[in-house]
Amino acid sequence: MSRTYVIRKEDRMNREGKYEILKRYFGYDTFREAQEVLIDSILEGKDTFGIMPTGAGKSLCYQIPALLMGGITLVISPLISLMKDQVGSLNQAGIHAAYLNSSLTPGQYHKALEFARQGRYPIIYVAPERLLTESFLDFALHSQIDMVAVDEAHCVSQWGQDFRPSYLKIMDFIGQLRERPVISAFTATATKEVREDIVDILQLRDPTVVTTGFDRSNLYFGVVKAKDRYGAIKDYLETHKGDSGIIYCLTRKQVDEVCERLLKDGFAVTRYHAGLSDEERKRDQEDFIYDRVPVIVATNAFGMGIDKSNVRFVLHYGMPKNIEAYYQEAGRAGRDGEAAECILYYSGQDVITDQFFIERGQAEQELDELTRAIIRERDRERLKRMTFYCFTSDCLRDYILRYFGEYGSNYCGNCSNCLTQFEEVDVTETARALIRCVESSRQRYGTTVIVDTLRGAKTAKIKSYRMDEDPCYGACAKTPVYKIRRVLDHLQLKGYLQVTDDGYAIVKLTESSREVLEEGSQVIMKAAKETERPEKGEGEKKKESKGKKGPVGGVELTEKEETLFQKLRALRTQIAREESVPPYIVFSDKTLVHMCMLKPRTRQEMLSVSGVGDHKYEKYGERFLGCIAGDLAEAPDRAIDQRDRPE
Ligand code: ADP
Ligand code: MG
Ligand code: ZN
Repeated sequence: MSRTYVIRKEDRMNREGKYEILKRYFGYDTFREAQEVLIDSILEGKDTFGIMPTGAGKSLCYQIPALLMGGITLVISPLISLMKDQVGSLNQAGIHAAYLNSSLTPGQYHKALEFARQGRYPIIYVAPERLLTESFLDFALHSQIDMVAVDEAHCVSQWGQDFRPSYLKIMDFIGQLRERPVISAFTATATKEVREDIVDILQLRDPTVVTTGFDRSNLYFGVVKAKDRYGAIKDYLETHKGDSGIIYCLTRKQVDEVCERLLKDGFAVTRYHAGLSDEERKRDQEDFIYDRVPVIVATNAFGMGIDKSNVRFVLHYGMPKNIEAYYQEAGRAGRDGEAAECILYYSGQDVITDQFFIERGQAEQELDELTRAIIRERDRERLKRMTFYCFTSDCLRDYILRYFGEYGSNYCGNCSNCLTQFEEVDVTETARALIRCVESSRQRYGTTVIVDTLRGAKTAKIKSYRMDEDPCYGACAKTPVYKIRRVLDHLQLKGYLQVTDDGYAIVKLTESSREVLEEGSQVIMKAAKETERPEKGEGEKKKESKGKKGPVGGVELTEKEETLFQKLRALRTQIAREESVPPYIVFSDKTLVHMCMLKPRTRQEMLSVSGVGDHKYEKYGERFLGCIAGDLAEAPDRAIDQRDRPE
């Protein structure tokens, strides 16, 4: 049986071979940080553990050694959709690979296994449930398995968010092999507990461990406290037409509402949540993945296993219950490394929804009451840290990195706080009024009552609690409510006040509260300069501040290049249809952008575009060259502003 990948015997274990494979099959010139270390470690026969954020390029770290080792690499992956995607990408690149999971009919399964026995596939993706089945074991025992690569390795840990008991079978399986293969493990989620679990449970032997930072510098982070959230999101979509994006909502009901309104307002969107039929979910998800519909409105049920690389924005219509969840969801933007935006549209109401989820969350698990109480406590703490993310006026990226135990630079220049001009405002008066009010009302009331008292509101609640007789009543009558609220948020952030998180949100004093009342003390808060921040959606704001952007956030394409980009994108969609694969598997957005910038005219030039390898060139290169040539012919003046190029 001939293999399409041609690797000379001498190249086996030859470290140089990896560059050739990188270029020829994947179309890239250089390895990213950490990839090379991980690959070399595997090629030296060492167990290897890579912890890298989403989009960092973990797949190549086991795929490339797999092609150089000579035998077979088994890749364990938790989800059918992930396997399909990866195998699809490999096949597109001209590499023989297959998957073995329950999506195959028994006939297909045995056929694939038969080919596997014949050594046709250097890389085989397999579901963990299959490992110990008779037919699979029989195959494995009679084949040379050089490596077992465990993708999404956090699934072995009960600490992780996606524990899968079937992952525990991996070690049983390996134990049965005649020779112990190299074991490699990869994950993007890595708190300390999870890391330790992975090393222990997979019994990694003196592994090479490489952790790259959690930072995803291509992602812009923003928090928007919009009064009209829907309007803000609509504005955003208005200014990002055609871009692929995800809008996360907290509840199914919210998904339905937002989706319906957007459809009514003429946007092409689809939706996803656990309440839809399997059929509907599958269709909606595919519409999104195949770029038939650019935007999907979804609950957090959507995403695991979605490797779509050209997601340009992730908007959160509501605040998730912790930073881990937020970063995972937001991190689905910009996997291709191109600029992408992650914006959280926050409302105070979200905390209550999240609290509800937390109180209810653990009920169905078989845990004793004490454990449940501990978990709830931990979850409340996490929610608090998430809430502070929405209040802080420091660098948002820094805030996230610090949460994961890294140190940032305090200024990233690519988040809404770094890009907002702040001024320092003395809010001592309001702060004191808030604290006095909490004190005089004996720490019994929630935030709304406190704020309403200060502004002198005449609501039924205020009257019935007789807060209109409180000495602080009307103390801040001249300050807009939202400002009083921000000061309250700030006091919480700084620990001068606390709000209970047991579902009632009662404002309480803290040990530091009195400091604020002391003579000579001052409370200074950073606040956005008012003139710079119109009460419009984020979309509007960006349009004003950044000017026109290219089709892919951040990269500045000229208008003509953008037209070309649209043409290339259309061609990609057409090819994807012919081949029945998602468009991003044909070429990523990044590759198309490079084409627009380089405007290649020859095979050689086309091969210098990032993401164009030999195999893909043979398949589609000429069609893309044709498209570019056609575009140049239509706009001949392009020749004038052409870059210098070696002939
Ligand atoms: P992860 O599994 O770490 O989330 P993937 O393996 O899915 O990431 O890779 C994310 C994207 O990065 C893919 O589109 C992949 O082709 C691209 N990529 C990986 N390595 C490189 C590289 N060395 N140069 C350019 N792009 C790369
Ligand atoms: Mg991956
Ligand atoms: Zn920043």
